[in-house]
Amino acid sequence: MATASDDASSAEGASPVLSRARIAYSQCPLCQSPDIPPFGYADCTLHPLYHPALPPQITWCRCAVCAHVFTDGYFTEEAARLVFAKTNATQVVGHDAESQRRISARMVERVASVVKDGEWLDIGFGNASLLFTAGEFGYHPVGVDLRQDNVEALRRMGYEAHCQAIETLDAPGRFSVISMADVLEHMPFPRQGLDAACRLLRPGGALFLSMPNMSSAVWGLLDQTGINPYWGELEHYHNFDRERLYRLLGEHGLTPLIYAVSERYRIGMEVIAVKNPPAI
Ligand SMILES: [Zn+2]
Repeated sequence: MATASDDASSAEGASPVLSRARIAYSQCPLCQSPDIPPFGYADCTLHPLYHPALPPQITWCRCAVCAHVFTDGYFTEEAARLVFAKTNATQVVGHDAESQRRISARMVERVASVVKDGEWLDIGFGNASLLFTAGEFGYHPVGVDLRQDNVEALRRMGYEAHCQAIETLDAPGRFSVISMADVLEHMPFPRQGLDAACRLLRPGGALFLSMPNMSSAVWGLLDQTGINPYWGELEHYHNFDRERLYRLLGEHGLTPLIYAVSERYRIGMEVIAVKNPPAI
């Protein structure tokens, strides 16, 4: 990634670029501070979902107040259609099911050390490995995904599945576990996703999160050699670190209990937090 002080004017002459691909953040999406200077620029033209009508660069900002790092905006509907026109093969129900089951099992085991049973809601279930494995361990799994094909595939297998955003689910306190595996960094406004998860979770229930960890030393090593894939990641709006994520969870009445290294994607972290009981 180039730093904000580098010359970032090389995008001139890219005529097919949409006149407006992103809706700019006017304030930090986590703390609402308006002090959000650019932090750096990254080329995204080599990303598998890149479309030539999109800008060739991603601008990253860093909040001067809470230090959160995020893109300068989130995609308009028109731009999002171009980015998400292609479906990643790894997101199809049943993809690589046997090896994914082993990875998912280690995730479920960690959750089971906190909450042993009950209804498990998996947000953005993708290939459904985590959901299948949660069922195998005795949880009652329910899936939510924005890809209609995936939802229908899961329903055909007899599972409860919904094709809607988490914010629109109306089942307060229903779930013992909610998983958002590699989901939060894709949401334009993660606070809304966490608000919804807290509403759907019973007191004492567990929230499972995974995402890349920007404060990992490995992240810094990849930055040094210029091969960190996450600066050019078109599908992400946020780069969290453990510290900012923990503060965010605390602000939502969630207490982190377990930290682990995620095996799903590079430089990933896993956090399991519990919903605090209501204040007396
Ligand atoms: Zn902030």
